Amino acid sequence: MQSVKYFKFKALLLNDHWLSNAYVGVDINGNVAYLSATPPSAGFSVDVVDGFALPGFQNAHSHAFQYAMAGLAENHPAGTRDDFWSWREAMYQCALSVDPEQAEAIATMLYSEMVRHGYTHVAEFHYLHHDKDGGHYSNMAEMGARMVAAAKTACIKITLVPVFYQKGTFGQDPQPRQRRFISKSVDEYFKLFEASKEVIKYYDGASIAFSIHSLRAVDFNDIVTTVESMPADLPFHIHVAEQKKEVKDCFDHCGQRPMQWLLNNLPANERFHLVHSTHLDDDELGRLAKSGARVVLCPSTEGNLGDGIFRMKEYVKLGGRWSIGTDSHIGINPLEEFRMIDYRQRLVTNERNTFDGDAAHYMINEEVQSGRKAMGISAGNNFEIGLPFDALVIDAKAPLLSSTSIHNLTSTIVYSADTNYSLGTIVNGNWIVKRNRHIASQSIRTQFQSAVSQINNR
Ligand SMILES: [Zn+2]
Repeated sequence: MQSVKYFKFKALLLNDHWLSNAYVGVDINGNVAYLSATPPSAGFSVDVVDGFALPGFQNAHSHAFQYAMAGLAENHPAGTRDDFWSWREAMYQCALSVDPEQAEAIATMLYSEMVRHGYTHVAEFHYLHHDKDGGHYSNMAEMGARMVAAAKTACIKITLVPVFYQKGTFGQDPQPRQRRFISKSVDEYFKLFEASKEVIKYYDGASIAFSIHSLRAVDFNDIVTTVESMPADLPFHIHVAEQKKEVKDCFDHCGQRPMQWLLNNLPANERFHLVHSTHLDDDELGRLAKSGARVVLCPSTEGNLGDGIFRMKEYVKLGGRWSIGTDSHIGINPLEEFRMIDYRQRLVTNERNTFDGDAAHYMINEEVQSGRKAMGISAGNNFEIGLPFDALVIDAKAPLLSSTSIHNLTSTIVYSADTNYSLGTIVNGNWIVKRNRHIASQSIRTQFQSAVSQINNR
């Protein structure tokens, strides 16, 4: 048996151009061992794929349990107000209803759907820690272990991000319905973090990062202590400035806006991944871009919740860096997230040139590079010898693509492809999804349907 297996793609997207007739060799560890337009020496069998290979996308922000309520908060009785805060009440109900087995089944279904859409790595921003009464499971990281197990079954890589969640809002004790999220102190959070480090050992594709839920969720002194005490090489994730009310509450509490407080009090740098960052003033935007910290945008969720619009065009002109996440999972298609990122800027600026040059290629490169930083793995190039071979493969025979020049290929895929254009998704050199069908889809769906019928919320 040959120790390196080979693929040939019609073209493969490098950082600055498409490599036509691309041969990729993958070693037994799933890493790229050969990358060239020249065939390997004779005698090797090659999987010839009539498709275009994009790098596997990085989903830098997920709350897996929320997938169980996707689409359920869209009925708005006339005369009532429905905003983020009323949605949050429905989300708390969902959070209180799932047990570990159900959480695993939901996450496995979700993660397999992510792979189907071309995500090959997810950062699970995980705060559903405790049992339904708020007590610790015998393994403090039981629920985190379930997320890792789900990722393993779905064949997606996972960065488990155990979240420190302590308070109800600025200066206030947590509400009873937040009881499954809470670590009372920095010490208690560290215990949870250490337990989480143990559970990632059960899957080669798992790694760890750390997190504060948001400035409203942890005492300011404890935020500083936590960030100072964590290993300097781990990514740090936090929600910040998602909602106008949150900005006002923060200002009322401490006289500073959330991003202002963060930049004044924490050593923001490229390991900081700031989720949403929706409401920023000019000073915050400039300082954020200069800090090296990166923003994680979740356009479909931000739109669904009515958060507001991040100032992307100005931020990128200032040198700002960003990745994407699917957050509540109301949408899990990375190409749709790219379109929303661009179109919401076009709608507010009345201009079409959100980004200079080939916007589609720029967005893919940026998402993949900053996304990998959010996972705490090597950013490298889109495809590189020594890095895992993870790819979304688009059908070269799809109607628009079969007659499109290489020059217009990336933009045609990003702005007009749907999932019917997908030939499949490769993780570590293995086809995990082919023609929209996951290798374990039957058992994953059965488990998911059983869990959802038990929860009985749909
Ligand atoms: Zn979130």
